Amino acid sequence: MSKSKKTRIQHVLAVEAKKQLSPHMIRLVLGGPGFEAIEFKSVGESPATDQYIKLLFLPQSAAEAAQLPEGLDLSRPYDMDALREQLRTEQMPATRTYTIRHVDHENSQIWVDFVVHGEEGRAGVWAKNAQIGEQISFFGPGSGYAPRGEAEWHLLAGDEAALPAIASALESMAEDARGVAVVEVRDAAERQPLDVPAGMDLVWLHREADFSPETTMLAEYLEELAIPEGDVQVFVHGERAQMKRIRRMLVDQKGLERKAMSLSAYWANGRIEDQFQAEKRTPVGRIED
Ligand SMILES: Cc1cc2nc3c(=O)[nH]c(=O)nc-3n(C[C@H](O)[C@H](O)[C@H](O)COP(=O)(O)OP(=O)(O)OC[C@H]3O[C@@H](n4cnc5c(N)ncnc54)[C@H](O)[C@@H]3O)c2cc1C
Repeated sequence: MSKSKKTRIQHVLAVEAKKQLSPHMIRLVLGGPGFEAIEFKSVGESPATDQYIKLLFLPQSAAEAAQLPEGLDLSRPYDMDALREQLRTEQMPATRTYTIRHVDHENSQIWVDFVVHGEEGRAGVWAKNAQIGEQISFFGPGSGYAPRGEAEWHLLAGDEAALPAIASALESMAEDARGVAVVEVRDAAERQPLDVPAGMDLVWLHREADFSPETTMLAEYLEELAIPEGDVQVFVHGERAQMKRIRRMLVDQKGLERKAMSLSAYWANGRIEDQFQAEKRTPVGRIED
């Protein structure tokens, strides 16, 4: 554990197990002595179910690594101040945001489920190739959501990237919680067994293809969904263009209040996460009009 100038604590865990959950989803079980220093988050009295961490990735390819100064200390936790002095901005560790799918206090481990979305990018590819014992650094967790016990109806929705958070939310709900969880995945092989309260309906939507900008099935399904009046709590996350459309529809057509909704983009088609995060400060990156 180390503290940088901004007092962000950098945690270091090791890959202790690896499990192929479905053809395009890999679980890494991360653990080790660094676990004790992690401050897990709550929302009110309840453990947050959307806790997210910022994994740090240094250049991965041999070509990129060859550009790093000789003798650079890359032991973890990274000394970010020292790295900043020696590296160009684009050489600094890139961050990738991931949900803590489950905290296993007994074994001092966290589970992180990665969508493996091809050969592009850092985190998905890293997870696919990760070796037992390999270390990873991260900041966090942050959080913002836990299902409220008193909510009359829950809407949970998202694509594969939001599936870990949706699964974690469903698991934490009381058996009499009511509502719908809608998960868009590539195809039936990507479904996972989830612990769903008796009062919640679980709907899987199959694209039957990789994600493309033309993908609109989640938005279309939600447009047709009857949402009851009353105390409705919403958790919807996924690809940015989808989220913009869904947010507009939930507010303008379904009359849901902004403050009742946890709704954000988890990624943006055609953007690496660094661009996607930077664009949040520009009109294209904003979910709200
Ligand atoms: C709060 C939060 C929690 C998240 N939790 C999870 C999680 O638990 N599991 C998870 O897998 N993701 C999660 N994500 C999304 C994840 O951070 C992004 O998908 C990230 O871009 C993946 O990094 P990468 O290095 O693999 O790809 P990048 O280098 O960022 O992108 C490379 C290319 O892949 C495309 N791409 C990125 N993500 C996807 C995707 N999911 N499907 C198809 N194409 C993609 C990009 O558009 C880009 O063209 C979360 C995001 C946020 C903000």
